[in-house]
Amino acid sequence: MAELPKVRFPHEFIRPIQQDMIKDVLDAVSQKKHLICHAPTGLGKTAASLAPALAHALQHGLTVFFLTSRHTQHKIALDTIQRMRELHGVSIRVADIIGKKWMCLQDSVHTLRTRDFMEYCKHLREEGNCSFYSRVRDKGKVSVEAQKALSDLASSADQSTAEVYRIGKRASLCPYELSILHAKEADVIISDYYYLFSPGIRQNFLKKIGKELSKSIIIVDEGHNLPSRCRELLTQRLTASMLERAEKEAAKYQFNESASSLAAMRRKLGLLAASLLKGSVHSYTKNEEVLVEKGHLTSLIQNYDEFIVSLLFIAEEARSHQKQSFVAGVAEFLESWLGPDEGYARILERKEQNLILSYRCLDPSIVSVEVAEEAHSVILMSGTLTPTSMFRDLLSFRRCDERVYESPFPRENRKCLVVPLTTTQYAKRNDEQFSQIAMLLSAMANDIPGNTAIFFPSYFMRDRIAREFEGMCIRTIFREDPTLTSQEKQDMIARFASYQKHGAVLLGVSTGSFGEGIDLPGDALKAVIVVGLPLERPSLEIQQLISYYDRRFGRGWDYGYVFPAITKTLQNAGRCIRSETDRGMIIFLDERYAWPRYLSCLPKDLHVEVTRAFQPRIREFYRNA
Ligand code: SF4
Repeated sequence: MAELPKVRFPHEFIRPIQQDMIKDVLDAVSQKKHLICHAPTGLGKTAASLAPALAHALQHGLTVFFLTSRHTQHKIALDTIQRMRELHGVSIRVADIIGKKWMCLQDSVHTLRTRDFMEYCKHLREEGNCSFYSRVRDKGKVSVEAQKALSDLASSADQSTAEVYRIGKRASLCPYELSILHAKEADVIISDYYYLFSPGIRQNFLKKIGKELSKSIIIVDEGHNLPSRCRELLTQRLTASMLERAEKEAAKYQFNESASSLAAMRRKLGLLAASLLKGSVHSYTKNEEVLVEKGHLTSLIQNYDEFIVSLLFIAEEARSHQKQSFVAGVAEFLESWLGPDEGYARILERKEQNLILSYRCLDPSIVSVEVAEEAHSVILMSGTLTPTSMFRDLLSFRRCDERVYESPFPRENRKCLVVPLTTTQYAKRNDEQFSQIAMLLSAMANDIPGNTAIFFPSYFMRDRIAREFEGMCIRTIFREDPTLTSQEKQDMIARFASYQKHGAVLLGVSTGSFGEGIDLPGDALKAVIVVGLPLERPSLEIQQLISYYDRRFGRGWDYGYVFPAITKTLQNAGRCIRSETDRGMIIFLDERYAWPRYLSCLPKDLHVEVTRAFQPRIREFYRNA
């Protein structure tokens, strides 16, 4: 039997629940299996996954990839590795890589579409017009300047992207290229999902850093986002305004015939929409949309394949003069439109006077299955991965273990209520209902001694209910605004947190940026109230998802509609208790949470109490604080 690897845990003590997760990760990686783990906030899942995965990787010559969906999540992985180094005196080589566009030293590239940026960068490199790139190598070998930069990076305690960028900028060397060279030697690579899950990027990326999928342990953080991210990677959209810009671009570079073809295509698309969308307005969603077939578009264009080739030629010409090309965007869409039917939906819709044609991926496993089949192990983890079987099905993970860990926080520190006194169900929505919700919310918020965050299913409902709520609530009220910059959002959260003594109320939306991305530990947040269920509007895409998942798994309604909404509400609820000493209440305000179908989706360790008598419960909970 192989000797167990030495796990270098980044903390002095390992809690029993972390022991469990470490053992599960070791079991999975030693048997080349995948692991899906629902690991609630506070478990310390970054440490409990990275330490055993790295121990196994070092013993067997593998690489650990720690993938996140946001740049901001890289820091916790970097800090964890730094603590492992300090506590155990070991050398662990880590590379932190974000999107190439964000590491680029050229001016004004951040606003470019990723595809445009990639083409722009490729063009500069091939033409020898990026000195930052050229300086990294000298006659095919790593230049002296780059070697010096890499050795500075290797000896720095900080190996974050910010440090790579700083070193690269100081030496006028492309930071992305430095990261790639650095990653060749790395034991751990921290990056975005798409580096390994995007089929177009993965192969090239792995080749450049000299790694293989079969020799990789992949940890996917906040894994509840992976199915939707995988679908988005294969989804393409074309709008009438994109066509118009492409037409102008073709004319600008004297490709008049193609410009006319693009104009004709736009006109024909308009006519097609006029006939197909007539009378298609959905009574509830108000969407004007219709399912279309491949032939609806291909029949509008003469010599479809040749047309794509001519557009690609124009795009190349345009890119030699400018950073982005709309013609390229059209060509890319037309190519994708010829893709398979199974697992996709083609939709034509009109939104705010703009026509949108989309080729939408319904099946995340089209992207994930290759990774799941080839990788040594994939560890999918998040605080909201229940039911784990749904993620296993959606991502087609075979040879897979599933684990659900309980919250490590003291049970008495958290009280969770379902209050079935109202609902935001569409059929029951009316002014009276909104007034009642406002009244219930103010009764709750006025009794909670401190800050409360309230999440609504939509901005419309938030604003409608807030009109009355504001007159009844005695607390200072903050409203999340989706148009704020990330700095303005941070400032708002800081101001909200400063009200912890007097109490304030933050009115947000379940799917808004505060619904998943805020961290208010200690007394900064005393309660979270989730109003209604953030079910997606039953758009054509959702209907297609439901019927596709029904055909594949017999669980269309759950996988395509109900469970994603529950995941969002649990993310909202997770804002409340962020540490072992936090105390707080979570209240689900909607009668549907009391229905067995929905109630059974809430994790057992929430110990939910269904009650109409919420006031005595609130007072009792905080009296004992
Ligand atoms: S090679 Fe580097 S610096 Fe040059 S354009 Fe590409 S990313 Fe930017």
